[in-house]
Amino acid sequence: MHQKLPKEIDPLRLAQNGLKLAGQLAVTEMPRLLQSLVSNEGIVDVDIAFDVDEVHTPFMRGEFTTTISMTCERCMKEMKVDLDVHCLLAMVTNERKIEGLAEQYDPWLLENSDDVLLSSVIEDELILALPLVPRHDEACLPASEWSSADEMAEEIEEKVSPFAVLATLKTKK
Ligand SMILES: [Zn+2]
Repeated sequence: MHQKLPKEIDPLRLAQNGLKLAGQLAVTEMPRLLQSLVSNEGIVDVDIAFDVDEVHTPFMRGEFTTTISMTCERCMKEMKVDLDVHCLLAMVTNERKIEGLAEQYDPWLLENSDDVLLSSVIEDELILALPLVPRHDEACLPASEWSSADEMAEEIEEKVSPFAVLATLKTKK
């Protein structure tokens, strides 16, 4: 049974109860995500299942889809970006348990038993899925007008190591 999206959740309890949540959230509820967007418009479709696996690991499987607006780094005009994020997060109550997780999981560290702001969890996943250097798929400027910014953007893309991405995952709250 699907319920409306609560503002705050107790993830461990939801996992014990095998609860599913579905609903919509506005990007205006995600201030950190908004910093990367050029428009406050955007609705995130949220579909989440909480459960416990066969080795008793509580987890959350989520799918978040939305269309947001970012600035194209090439032509500096607004562009639409479709996001379809799938995540599988295993809840751990202490950092030492992260190592023992089955490899399909990303760790979700719950350091205390406080309720968690649901929008913030979803926001983290969406931020990780944002394109590093958003650019229109089509040649939005003639090649002769491509700025040096475009070349710089390519350099940035090359410099971001996968380990940096991993590091952000591991510090997820
Ligand atoms: Zn463009």
